[in-house]
Amino acid sequence: MARHPHWVPAYIGLGANLGEPLQQLRTALASLAQLPDTRLVAVSPAYRSRPMGPQDQPSYINAVAGILCTLEAEVLLDSLQAIERGMGRAPGGERWGPRIIDLDLLVYGDKVVASNRLVLPHPGIHERSFVLYPLADMAPTLKVPGRGSVQALRAAVPENDLLRLEDSLTT
Ligand code: ADP
Ligand code: MG
Repeated sequence: MARHPHWVPAYIGLGANLGEPLQQLRTALASLAQLPDTRLVAVSPAYRSRPMGPQDQPSYINAVAGILCTLEAEVLLDSLQAIERGMGRAPGGERWGPRIIDLDLLVYGDKVVASNRLVLPHPGIHERSFVLYPLADMAPTLKVPGRGSVQALRAAVPENDLLRLEDSLTT
């Protein structure tokens, strides 16, 4: 009997605040689309957000990508980190410091895990307007495992000067 792959819906948070952030988000999306066993299904609008932590750095551009994949979550995280490195992100660096590209695995199906390397859902998700707004744009009926509906989570965070941009990430 033929075996069917198990396609898991997953959401990736993208952010950048050095160089040409919009262009880097587009490059990262193109790389995501080319990962093996992965289909890029949807891309949110882009948002401009204030940096977390140190304020003496440029604003961020953020967005969320929706994918279907048959990669294990840990393998997907490896792939996201390989894309970050390939785009020139230096390892280490200050917590919440400036970066060329940041790719976070926000949600992977209904998986809930907390290992040294991987926490799912992403631990910052419920307090970050720059994640919850684009995530709710893209997946308004999503339930974040263990945290509740994306709409309710979005309603509970301060908007924090978040600005939705007109720039398209997909053209
Ligand atoms: P941050 O995104 O929090 O600013 P980094 O991108 O430098 O910081 O990630 C720091 C570490 O977070 C990585 O080494 C990675 O193993 C870990 N991590 C744990 N859970 C996740 C997740 N869901 N998505 C991305 N990274 C994660
Ligand atoms: Mg990260």
